[in-house]
Amino acid sequence: MSNKPPYLINYMSTFKSALSALALTLTASAAMAQTQDFDYTVDRFADIEVLRYQVPDFDKLSLDQKRLVYYLTEAALWGRDILWDQNYKYNLPLRQMIEAVYVSTDDRTSDDFKAFDKYIRQVEFANGIHHHYSMDKFTPGFSREWLEAQVAKLPAGAWTPVQAEVMAAIFDPAVAPKRVNQAEGQDLILTSANNLYDGVTQAEVETYYNALKNPDDATPVSYGLNSKVVKNADGKVVEQVYKLGGLYSDAIAHIVDNLTKAMAYAENDAQRAVIARLINYYTTGDLATFDDYSIRWAEDTDSQVDFINGFIESYGDPLGMTGSWESIVNFKNIPASARTETLSTNAQWFENNSPVDPRFRKEQVKGVSAKVITAAILAGDSYPATPIGINLPNSNWIRAQHGSKSVTLENITQAYDEASHGNGFNEEFVIDEPTRQLLDRYLFLTDNLHTDLHECLGHGSGRLLPGVDPDALKAHGSTLEEARADLFALYYLADPKLVELGLLDNPDAYQAEYYKYILNGLMTQLMRIEPGKDIEEAHMRNRQLIAAWAYEHGKKDKVIELVRRGGKTYVKINDYRKLRDLFGQLLGEIQRIKSEGDYAAGAALVEKYAVKVNRKLHDEVLRRYAKLDIAPYKGFVNPVYTATFDDNGNITDVTVTYTEDYMPQMLRYSRDYSGLTK
Ligand code: ZN
Repeated sequence: MSNKPPYLINYMSTFKSALSALALTLTASAAMAQTQDFDYTVDRFADIEVLRYQVPDFDKLSLDQKRLVYYLTEAALWGRDILWDQNYKYNLPLRQMIEAVYVSTDDRTSDDFKAFDKYIRQVEFANGIHHHYSMDKFTPGFSREWLEAQVAKLPAGAWTPVQAEVMAAIFDPAVAPKRVNQAEGQDLILTSANNLYDGVTQAEVETYYNALKNPDDATPVSYGLNSKVVKNADGKVVEQVYKLGGLYSDAIAHIVDNLTKAMAYAENDAQRAVIARLINYYTTGDLATFDDYSIRWAEDTDSQVDFINGFIESYGDPLGMTGSWESIVNFKNIPASARTETLSTNAQWFENNSPVDPRFRKEQVKGVSAKVITAAILAGDSYPATPIGINLPNSNWIRAQHGSKSVTLENITQAYDEASHGNGFNEEFVIDEPTRQLLDRYLFLTDNLHTDLHECLGHGSGRLLPGVDPDALKAHGSTLEEARADLFALYYLADPKLVELGLLDNPDAYQAEYYKYILNGLMTQLMRIEPGKDIEEAHMRNRQLIAAWAYEHGKKDKVIELVRRGGKTYVKINDYRKLRDLFGQLLGEIQRIKSEGDYAAGAALVEKYAVKVNRKLHDEVLRRYAKLDIAPYKGFVNPVYTATFDDNGNITDVTVTYTEDYMPQMLRYSRDYSGLTK
């Protein structure tokens, strides 16, 4: 599971003052020294701000580690086209066409071009024509006539022959309007534009997988993770597997080639075996091999360099089966990891004291490993929009038996923080000066801790009762799982144990995160929803679920109030201790729902609290937010790694630079890493 940036923007202001308040060595201190002259902002268009991140201490890696990182980043970049194709079947020819127009058109000043310029930036950012978060198709602001005139000027053979389909995809609002549709009561497969299914209904897909699943299998593979489900010529439902010789073979061949080169520089035998298993999985498409790989990967906690590369998260599939391709290459931030190691070491204490029915607790929390990492490259579904924390593998039984690995991408959170200073957000939305000071002082720290608790302990906590289907919560599974992990983190953030462990120096520090969480869940995250729309994305649903539930259940005690001042609405929290109790109660209930597979209760919670938007408040948030002119979404360009080779083709050095801009990077990736479009 990946943890999306909770507030996206500007959640705190003074990183430096938070730092001085720390009882522990905060991570980014090495990076801080270099940040003075670093320009974090790269591009700004539509609702997007593109940032840069630094890779502190890359130069401190050994030469072999740099070689390893280099080949892993190559393996990461080669998967880009897979994701584009998974997202929508005409994304790749569409990209080829609009990029060809973009680089060659001699019209760079008309209103049509300006609208086109915005559109191509949006499409590049979303890895396709649907918004990466709302899943809605982008609306072009230029005319079809203009684009057709530009295309007509392209040299013959400049792009592929599905022009009619591509034009319809761009200009016809009725074509592929939504990448992932989660609306209750509709056929989620037929109404989703993603390319994970073709010619099959939701009922047919569910029948197909139900026939594969054996309820008595204690170690089931992740069915459907690496395949597209289609109807064959005989009308039979079949899977087309992503593998060498199968679907996406050309791109996978490049990935495998670079993984093979990387393997020569593995840090140890365990890591070598991990890479070998991954190559084997890409070669065979065998999901049991993927599980073997995942187990070895979860258990390899000694290597400093690490990576994910494959079909991982299933948020892009309305049924939560097929993984979107992604890769993140990283290395451990050793001083910062002391924080998460403290949590991991004490995992059993947290499990034993959690406010859930003891029947749903794990008797032995196994192998919860956690570390703070420095991202070296972001790719596929993690690029340009990226998670700030990751907890994998996703397979429930592997997590239970072998543990999971949990990471926080602190050079990314640091870039978010640095880029957001002084944008006026807190002044507009936070109720008063003392609360702003609380946030200034403790939010960066408590927010990092929240992420750590969510990833290291939250997702790994609790257990299913015997015989409960891990997919029992169906379309609501992601929302409820994120809520469970968030509630675990919120509950413990206020626990004296954190002070005892030396992770916080003030027992009231948690109030900073509580205030911001409720403010975000009740109000400010609505800035990312278009007028008239409801909430669909799982992480956003989760946050409103928690905030709205706590608001309603604390009403008689006025735990949380929405007060009006000067014509504006503010969140006021009157009783932080009671709020913690409420978080504990809701955690108990959601854990029960998960442990028992109580779909009806889960669906009722989500539908009552997580989906519907308070229209009046929404309008107000949009109005106030618009005045600040802050991009609601952010993402990153990658650094550029340059290897120098000797006469035998061995890498003698790898250097990293941070000067490449947004569109040049996108165009370079399309030119140099097009695994599927040649
Ligand atoms: Zn999560």
